[in-house]
Amino acid sequence: MTLLEDVPLQDFNTLAIPAKAAYFADVASAEDLERILANPALASLPRLVLGGGSNIVLRGDFPGVVLHIALQGIAVEESGAERLVKVAAGENWDALVRHCLAQGWYGIENLISIPGSAGAAPIQNIGAYGVELADVLVAVRGWDLNQQQWRRLSCEQCQLGYRSSVFKGELQDRFIITEIELRLSTTASPNTRYAALSDALSGTEVVTPEAVAEAVATMRASRLPDYRQEPNAGSFFKNPIVSAERASVLQQRFPQLVSWPLADGQVKLAAAWLVEQCGWKGRRQGEVGIHPRQAIVLVNYGRTKGETVLALAGAIQSSVADQFGVSLEIEPRLY
Ligand code: FAD
Ligand code: NAP
Repeated sequence: MTLLEDVPLQDFNTLAIPAKAAYFADVASAEDLERILANPALASLPRLVLGGGSNIVLRGDFPGVVLHIALQGIAVEESGAERLVKVAAGENWDALVRHCLAQGWYGIENLISIPGSAGAAPIQNIGAYGVELADVLVAVRGWDLNQQQWRRLSCEQCQLGYRSSVFKGELQDRFIITEIELRLSTTASPNTRYAALSDALSGTEVVTPEAVAEAVATMRASRLPDYRQEPNAGSFFKNPIVSAERASVLQQRFPQLVSWPLADGQVKLAAAWLVEQCGWKGRRQGEVGIHPRQAIVLVNYGRTKGETVLALAGAIQSSVADQFGVSLEIEPRLY
C-alpha cells in the first residue's frame, strides 16, 4: 500500500468535483487498513472513507487522509435454497448484483444499476424499486475506530431506515465496513410491488428475477443521467417525511401534492414534486443545474467546485421552504 500526497479526486467522485486530498491510500486488505490507521503522522488528521464517491459532495480540498476501500472478494455458504453471500467492501455493487443473478442467487435484482461499492450500501440502506438493502442484509464486518477492534454488527445493530443507518448516526466516522453479508435465495421470488416496475412488466408472461433486473436497468438508463457524461450524485434530496396532520394541511392547500402514507402513520412527500413546483426542473445556473427529467438530480455540467453545487442546492431548499414550509434534507454526505 502506498500513501500518496496531494491527490486529485475528480475521478473519484461522480459529481466530478475537482478537489484534492492531502493524503490518499488504496486499502486492499485488512492489514492495509490496520497499517494506515497505526501511522502516527496521520492519527490527528480527518479521514474520508471512500467507495465509489457516488454519494458525497466535496466542499473543497480534503485536508486529511482518504481511505479508498479496494478490498475484493466474494464468498458463499450454502444452506438449502439459502445463500449467505459475503462480499468485500470494495466490490462494485452493480457488478455484484449481476454476478448474483448469473449464479441464480436472488433478492437484490431490483437494486441493479446503483453506482458505488458494496461496503457503502449499508450506509444509507440503499433502496430502489421497492427493495432496500435491509431486506437482505445479515451483518457487516469492519473496524470500530472507537473500540479499536474488529466487530461484526448484525443487521438489527445497523439500524437501517429510510436512507439511514447507525453509520449516519451514532457510528458516523467511527466504523469502517470491510465486508457485508447478504442472505439471498436460489428460489425466485420477484418483487414487483413498485408501481413503475409492475407497469413495465405488465406484458411479460412469466416474471423472472432476470426480467425484473432488465426492466429496472432499462428504466434507470432512460430516466437517470449517466454520471460519466453528466456528473451527478443521484437524488440530491431525500423525500421529506412529515406527520399525517401536516400532510393533510398541505394537501388542502395544494391538492396536487404527491405523497405516500407510511406504515408508521407518517407521510412521505415527493421531493421531486416540491422542487418541480418551484420551477427548478431543467433549470441551469451557470455550470450547474437540475436535470430536465429528474427534478432532484443536480448536475455539475461544468465539473466545477462543490460550493457552486451547494449554492444551487441551497437556493432550491429556500424556495421549497418558502412555498411549502417543508425543509429538504440533502442526501449525499458533505465533506
Ligand atoms: P461513497 O460516495 O464513496 O460514500 C458515501 C458515504 O459512505 C460516505 O460518507 C463514506 O465515507 C461512506 N462509506 C463508503 N464506504 C464505506 C465503508 N466501506 N465503510 C464505512 N463508510 C463508508 N442510492 C440509493 O439508495 N438508491 C438508488 O437508486 C441510487 N441511485 C443512484 C443513481 C446515481 C446515478 C447516483 C450517482 C447515485 C445513486 N445513489 C442511489 C446513491 C449512491 O449510489 C449510493 O448511496 C451508494 O451506496 C454510494 O456508494 P459509494 O461507494 O459511491 O459511496
Ligand atoms: P420514481 O419511480 O418516479 O420515484 C420517484 C420517487 O417517488 C422515489 O423517491 C420513490 O420513493 C417515490 N415513490 C414512487 N412510488 C412510490 C410508492 N408507491 N410509494 C412510496 N414512494 C414512492 O422515479 P425515479 O426517481 O427514477 O426512482 C426510481 C427508483 O430508483 C426509486 O425507488 C428511487 O428511490 C431510486 N433512485 C434513487 C436514487 C438515489 O440517489 N437515492 C437515484 C435514482 C433513483 P423511494 O425512494 O422510497 O423508492
